[in-house]
Amino acid sequence: MSDNRSAAALKKVKEELLVRKLELEEQLANLSAEKVSDGQVQDAGDQALSSVMESLRASLQDAEIGEYKMIIKAIDMIDQGTYGICEDCSKNISEKRLSLIPNAVRCLICQEAFEETGGQ
Ligand SMILES: [Zn+2]
Repeated sequence: MSDNRSAAALKKVKEELLVRKLELEEQLANLSAEKVSDGQVQDAGDQALSSVMESLRASLQDAEIGEYKMIIKAIDMIDQGTYGICEDCSKNISEKRLSLIPNAVRCLICQEAFEETGGQ
């Protein structure tokens, strides 16, 4: 446990994750609110546009839900004391990797090895 992140560093990460989590909750609430108010009569052009918008919105929503889940998991991992520590080699996962994947459970090297062996 000697090279683990300090409690202060973890607290800061957790605060940032909580802020991001709130942002995402707001955005996701807005996305579903827009969907409901979109029920007006449209001509064919509007319908084509709105189906494009709808699929854009759906993929945006998917991405946000995906990120939201990662954040929930990461916060959970902070609470459990497993955040940012590779579960295979027990080394710290790089900040860069954690900024992209806050709930990463492996460092890049172990992740690559894991994927090469077929993911199990
Ligand atoms: Zn590792």
